[in-house]
Amino acid sequence: MKNFIPVNEPLLNGKEKQYLNECIDTGWISSEGNFVRQFEESFAQRVDRKYAIAVCNGSMALEAAVVALNISEGDEVILPAFTIISCGAAIVKVGATPVVVDCDPQTWNMDINQLEEKITPKTKAIMVVHIYGLPVDMTPVLNLAHQYGLKIIEDAAEVQGQTYKGQPCGSFGEISVFSFYPNKHITTGEGGMIVTNDETLADSCRSLRNLYFQPQRRFIHEKLGWNLRMTNLQAAVGLAQLERLDEFVARKRSMGKRYTELLTDVAALELPLPKTDYAKNIYWVYGIVLKDKVPFDAIEAMKRLRQYKIGSRPFFWCMHEQPVFKKMGLFQGVSCPVAERLARRGFYLPSGLALTNEQLKTVFEAMQKIFQ
Ligand SMILES: *Cc1c(COP(=O)(O)O)cnc(C)c1O
Repeated sequence: MKNFIPVNEPLLNGKEKQYLNECIDTGWISSEGNFVRQFEESFAQRVDRKYAIAVCNGSMALEAAVVALNISEGDEVILPAFTIISCGAAIVKVGATPVVVDCDPQTWNMDINQLEEKITPKTKAIMVVHIYGLPVDMTPVLNLAHQYGLKIIEDAAEVQGQTYKGQPCGSFGEISVFSFYPNKHITTGEGGMIVTNDETLADSCRSLRNLYFQPQRRFIHEKLGWNLRMTNLQAAVGLAQLERLDEFVARKRSMGKRYTELLTDVAALELPLPKTDYAKNIYWVYGIVLKDKVPFDAIEAMKRLRQYKIGSRPFFWCMHEQPVFKKMGLFQGVSCPVAERLARRGFYLPSGLALTNEQLKTVFEAMQKIFQ
């Protein structure tokens, strides 16, 4: 559609082409290529971890993390109610039980004050997910994990380049994961990264990534893995993107600031929190929530925006309301009113890195017309 402003468009005008050409000129296109190793090393350094394992996407990074931590039937894993299906799926697929926590109405992250009451003798891990650009308040989570002997799986897919009290997001979990889907701060088209400081966990993740081939005797397998390998082509793009992460974060922050300046007078909207005590928002996406006095929901608002040729996306749908999990008998009687409200009244505006200031203004003008 001409003049349509998509919800996301990535920026690929750094060294992506140069590095891709190198892959093609040398014939190194598979996961054996050098860019994969370079990307892993640079990424590990960037998030202050010893090991980084590049994989095919963020969802599978989560699945590998759960398996590497030996989480299985009978175990419980605590996660936010308000997150992407990949989080719940990774837990359910190994036969473990997901236990959800409602979110904080301001930060949209897991409400830390409701965490301890969810811990039982069966709890094995907490899956922390940083939502939409502000990190979870990690200190109390780490203290609880320590006190109860729980593992942390950190999903940092939406906070590349973000820090918590000055420490990189992705440096807090026994295993932390990232996604490089095109709407993330850096992209490889499809892709993901697992990071850890634990050598044994790193080895497990590498084996899980590569079908559990054994170095000693290829084609004889003691365990089953997957093929989760990232190609050299993807890593070439990833490395070029990583070189610009600081610039990308700065751009997202300035877009978030501009949206907030413009939309602050639109009384119908709850806008994202610019900062907390421990971090400044990096606006993975620019999310907004319709105040209760607005007589329609997010889906209707998005429909109206589309008439102005503007793309948008609804917020996540809660884990405990997913038909697939309900059919399995999970989450019976669970209610998380804050997350349920966000899921119905929240959506996000175009906020990709290629969005121009002019387009941002056009989005604002459409919002003004719809809500005033
Ligand atoms: C994008 C995302 C994922 C999934 O990553 P894919 O690479 O799309 O599989 C997982 N968790 C969160 C929080 C995400 O935002």
